[in-house]
Amino acid sequence: MRFPLALTAKIAGHIVWHKLRGVEKFATVLQLEPLHTCNLTCTGCGRIREYSTSLKDVLPLADCLAAADECNAPMVSICGGEPLIYPQIEALVDGLLAQRRIVYICTNATLMRRKMRDYLAALFIQRRGEAEERLQVLVSEELVTPRDAEEIRRGPKDEDKPVIAPTQWIYWNVHLDGMEKTHDLIVERDGVFREAVLAIRMAKILGYQVATNTTVYRETDPAEIEQMFAFLGTLGVDGHTISPGYEYDAAKKDMIARLGQRPEEFFLTRDATREKFARAVEWGRDFPILGTPVYLEFLAGQRDLTCSAWAIPTRNVRGWKGPCYLMTDGHYATYRELLEKTDWNKLGVVDGVARDPRCENCMVHCGYEPTASLGIGAQPGDLWKTLKFTFGPKPMPPEVEAPGRSRADAEIAAVRR
Ligand code: SF4
Ligand code: SF4
Repeated sequence: MRFPLALTAKIAGHIVWHKLRGVEKFATVLQLEPLHTCNLTCTGCGRIREYSTSLKDVLPLADCLAAADECNAPMVSICGGEPLIYPQIEALVDGLLAQRRIVYICTNATLMRRKMRDYLAALFIQRRGEAEERLQVLVSEELVTPRDAEEIRRGPKDEDKPVIAPTQWIYWNVHLDGMEKTHDLIVERDGVFREAVLAIRMAKILGYQVATNTTVYRETDPAEIEQMFAFLGTLGVDGHTISPGYEYDAAKKDMIARLGQRPEEFFLTRDATREKFARAVEWGRDFPILGTPVYLEFLAGQRDLTCSAWAIPTRNVRGWKGPCYLMTDGHYATYRELLEKTDWNKLGVVDGVARDPRCENCMVHCGYEPTASLGIGAQPGDLWKTLKFTFGPKPMPPEVEAPGRSRADAEIAAVRR
């Protein structure tokens, strides 16, 4: 299976419960942005530009948990900004798990190893033998330095502080937009790709689930995306999400002013998206892509979908962002208010006509994947196709040669198979 059975059952149960009660619009995934601060400045990132005046603000922990409680989405994607900078990230993850939600921590991975060292230090108090065994593997793989290992053995500085421990209800969701050269160019810093790979390897040794999320831009070479998926498969990555880039106004302006680039050279039109994703259906067959085959067909230009942005709402430091994750017309006090005050009939692209000009080139995951997963406008055979995709065997990508890949990586990959 692509996704653990318990998680699939939770999401399916949530959808069926609402459908049986005739609830037309409801949340399936909450995009929770507890802060917009980030330690990177990626070229296409709208967040750090749009919210550049509120970068120091953080959403209080209680408000984060109340937002999840209000919209009751079974899955919460903690994003931002870089969520690992959020001072109470561990308590936030704990609180969401206590609400019995599936938690995705969307991270650029630069701070991931630090958080996993904290987990290991806590494990030394609870299960010393197991912690020592894992630590020795991590040191031998050069994923933890001998100095950090000594620090870990001393245990946590604050025993009462929660840690992010591996469980089937959590995924690290690592941002990777290509192989080393491409990714580091997009995030505008050398070494980020390598750090992400080290963090993923450490996470897999410690038993975490790891997914990756990739945005495809005009410059992206689809062949490189396939190479990246194959490489990530050798690291034991559990699944991938992929989405075309969206032309954020703030990112466009930044690109012109700061980088002297024309946005049309960087972002994708609808036709260009279909070209880039021409092999999306094959990607779904060959790699553990998370989501639905229907959305992949949509990306490949094989069918049309309407937008269901209400299913993946965004809560951030200013409120419930409307109308969607990408566009901002306002922020609302509650999810209910967002649902009621947004004219959903004026959004998306229907029969090739954009109901809002800003939607014209948008085919992004957060607008269209829920349409597919909720079966809106479903065609005969879609349900069977989705069941087969979800419950069928997980694709195992082929072995690849990739930069920086050691024999130890190959051995870890072999063990994981
Ligand atoms: S890591 Fe994420 S939040 Fe930070 S700049 Fe890049 S895209 Fe934006
Ligand atoms: S089509 Fe895209 S930009 Fe338009 S409302 Fe939907 S998600 Fe937002």
